[in-house]
Amino acid sequence: MTSPTQIEKYLKKYFGFDEFRIHQQEIVEAMLAKKDVVAVLPTGSGKSLCYQLPAIITEGTAIVISPLIALMEDQVQSLQTMGVKAAYINSQLSLTEQRQIIANFNDYDLIYLAPERILKDGFLDEIITAKISYLIIDEAHCISQWGHAFRPEYRQLAALRAKFPNVPAAAFTATATNAVIQDMKLQLGLASPFTIVGSFDRPNLSIRVIPRENGLSQLISFIDDRKKESGIIYSSTRDSVDKLHITLKEKGFQVEKYHAGMTDQDRRQSQRRFLKDDSLLMVATIAFGMGVHKPDVRYIVHMDLPKSIEGYYQEIGRAGRDGLPADCLMLFGTQDYILQKRMVDDAGDVSVKQNMLRRLEQFFTFCHSSTCRRKEILHYFGETYPESNCKNCHNCLDDAVTEDATIISQKILSCVYRMQQRFGISLVVDVLNGADTQQIKQYNFNSLTTYGLLKELNKLEIRHYVFSLINQNYLKMTDGQYPVLQ
Ligand code: ADP
Ligand code: ZN
Repeated sequence: MTSPTQIEKYLKKYFGFDEFRIHQQEIVEAMLAKKDVVAVLPTGSGKSLCYQLPAIITEGTAIVISPLIALMEDQVQSLQTMGVKAAYINSQLSLTEQRQIIANFNDYDLIYLAPERILKDGFLDEIITAKISYLIIDEAHCISQWGHAFRPEYRQLAALRAKFPNVPAAAFTATATNAVIQDMKLQLGLASPFTIVGSFDRPNLSIRVIPRENGLSQLISFIDDRKKESGIIYSSTRDSVDKLHITLKEKGFQVEKYHAGMTDQDRRQSQRRFLKDDSLLMVATIAFGMGVHKPDVRYIVHMDLPKSIEGYYQEIGRAGRDGLPADCLMLFGTQDYILQKRMVDDAGDVSVKQNMLRRLEQFFTFCHSSTCRRKEILHYFGETYPESNCKNCHNCLDDAVTEDATIISQKILSCVYRMQQRFGISLVVDVLNGADTQQIKQYNFNSLTTYGLLKELNKLEIRHYVFSLINQNYLKMTDGQYPVLQ
């Protein structure tokens, strides 16, 4: 058994740190005691060390499953500079190079492996005699279909686990709801793992989620005072990233861009510039960020609705890693809802569709909420936030704009009631807007007293009010394939 003081010596010797961060020591000790581990800790909390240290101390080779090639390279490189024997096996290497590493498997303390490699070229049979110290799964939420980042190739882990049933397994992730944690345990066959779910609160991040009016001018007024700081602006499509990049350049901002449509070389260059410069803006799709460690990102802007609450929280988690204040601004509009709804409609499987739709509705309801952002986000991740006012989100600070929408609300509620609480949001909005559609005629809704009551608003605006009412529990949207307003 390695004693705590010995562990600290290793911490100093290899990583150069004097003390553990919160939760690190418990995890390291559990792993050294050969327990299975599930650790859900926010980005930046130092998860890598939690498994690298036991892997270095323990005899044998640890296999680390990691989904991102760039991330693996970074990690292996920094381990090598620390004097640790580490390698990765992924498609970046030639087959000969891969074989060479496999042939010398036992020489390494850690081998990073792409999940899709597990079942390829008889890999499992080749390493069957190897002495494996740990099976480590990074970004473990990717194994669950309930999460936002399901990767089918992660399911191959079951085969790896089955081949080495007695090797302790450790799953790490920065984002998982309770349902996802349960599913992770099930899929990986972790019967009673040592489980740590750290607090997700990042008190140094200020959180603003506000309706988009004129996105560009909202953005400019936000970043204008921040020219000396570095930040990331997320936009949903490559095209919108390209356009925004040009616009900001023309306005004299020092700005880089990043999306999957650029060449590898361009992306790498742009990322490098962002990392080494301390007053630089990055406009990017969500392709940018995973594995990018820049401690002094001072702000994150979302120009439109991110894909999920998990995704959103992971993205803003890239700001303020140095613990100093950082600002997060998200703009959203009903247009985002419509675009994402279209993606839901295009998704194949009915249960996948339902799950996506439920998550989208939940997220959009969150956007319209007037309670503390932090409280709601933490609640989403199963955590109770004890304070009534966080003093660092726009709903707790005083800059939230509220309006008296009593009359509009009465009209909406009355319309839902008259439509017998049996129809979805689109039809309710159409009726209030006085639309002339086949469906409305079919149900004779044009003879309702509430027909056309909100003619003066456009459909997007009406939707906005409906979502606010859902958020404040005046209306309810049922679950299921065809959600109905009640
Ligand atoms: P995560 O994977 O949880 O996002 P990382 O493992 O990348 O986080 O660690 C984030 C940063 O924290 C790294 O720069 C790492 O060197 C640093 N770090 C980790 N553990 C400690 C520690 N005990 N003391 C000081 N810095 C640490
Ligand atoms: Zn708050």
